[in-house]
Amino acid sequence: MFMKNAWLKGFFLAFFFLTLSFAYLKEKTNFTGILLTKEERVDKKVNDIIKENQDKMLEVQKKFDDKFVYLEFLKDDVVYSYYVNTTSGEITDFSFYIRPEKQEDFNKKITELLYLKYPVFIADALNNETVKKTYQIRENELVIYFNDVTIEPMPTEKLFLTVNYNEIKDCLDFTFLLDSEYQNEDGYVYDPNKKTVALTFDDGPSGEKTNQIVSLLEQNKAHATFFMVGNKMNYGASTIQNVLAKGNEIGSHSYSHTSMKRQKKANLLADEEKTHEIYRNITGQELLFTRPPYGAINSTVKESLDTIFITWNLDTEDWLHRDKEYIVNYVLENVHDGDIILMHDSYDSTVNAVAELLPKLYAEGYQVVSVSELAKITNHPLEKHTIYRSLKRSQ
Ligand SMILES: [Zn+2]
Repeated sequence: MFMKNAWLKGFFLAFFFLTLSFAYLKEKTNFTGILLTKEERVDKKVNDIIKENQDKMLEVQKKFDDKFVYLEFLKDDVVYSYYVNTTSGEITDFSFYIRPEKQEDFNKKITELLYLKYPVFIADALNNETVKKTYQIRENELVIYFNDVTIEPMPTEKLFLTVNYNEIKDCLDFTFLLDSEYQNEDGYVYDPNKKTVALTFDDGPSGEKTNQIVSLLEQNKAHATFFMVGNKMNYGASTIQNVLAKGNEIGSHSYSHTSMKRQKKANLLADEEKTHEIYRNITGQELLFTRPPYGAINSTVKESLDTIFITWNLDTEDWLHRDKEYIVNYVLENVHDGDIILMHDSYDSTVNAVAELLPKLYAEGYQVVSVSELAKITNHPLEKHTIYRSLKRSQ
């Protein structure tokens, strides 16, 4: 009897301590994991993640093949994503589902698309392994968000890259939907909803300075309209070709930069035809617009020349100030949607101002384009014998 009682006591004591230590282990080490099936372990992890993200909206919970469970949350317009591996029941990086032998191709494609979408100053900052990324798996595309990145100047817009699965179809190690109508991303497209200004340069072609500006425009996803002087065109023929090759456009700035108002009609017509003839011989194209020197125009000039007249509403007076800081600040303080900005590609101070101004305008949400592109975006059909100072959107 006594023995039996002692046995019983020992048994209960052992049971009590076992239960206690089991509860302790469960709390501290997730020890129960080994007692769960693979599916239960994944479910538990998924539920834990959902619990941790209770302050956010659960947008997607989807299993991809038998590889991972994708969880996507949204809060204050920010996407949070998780990948729970169905074998380990652990959270993995997105890179786990890129074929290892295709990792380099994947990175190359992302780099290519970054430089296609963004100006160089932004693409350089984003194209960096240390930048934290969130990968959002959408039906037909992958969206990559870039978090906590510092760029100078810092753009106000959200930084992300949309990658259609057609671009990376060989790289991904899970089943996804392929758009059949997808066209390769092969060029930069301006956004009609963004604030837009036309940048114009007079008095060229000016050789190296013009070419430097063309490079800066290219690096910043920008275009401009160059108003060139007829008697400088032959000397600057290769510069003219370069301006056009990079998506910019060219108008006439008279033959010899004399005021059109002071010319006799016959001289005016002859000079303008001479300028057109020279340009035609160099490019095989027509000059698109005319900008009279000094903006000096009267009704005789307007009626005589069979052309569209483009002047400006934002004059940087770069020829007078020759000061980078002045030009940059003047534009940033006065710029508005639909403006036509006047500069001259003849001064180093203007080249330096353009180098600083283009990233700053981009960061403030402006796209910088040619006059034709601005007219298209703001819905202005341009007509001959008409003067345009700016191209504002109608309200
Ligand atoms: Zn001029």
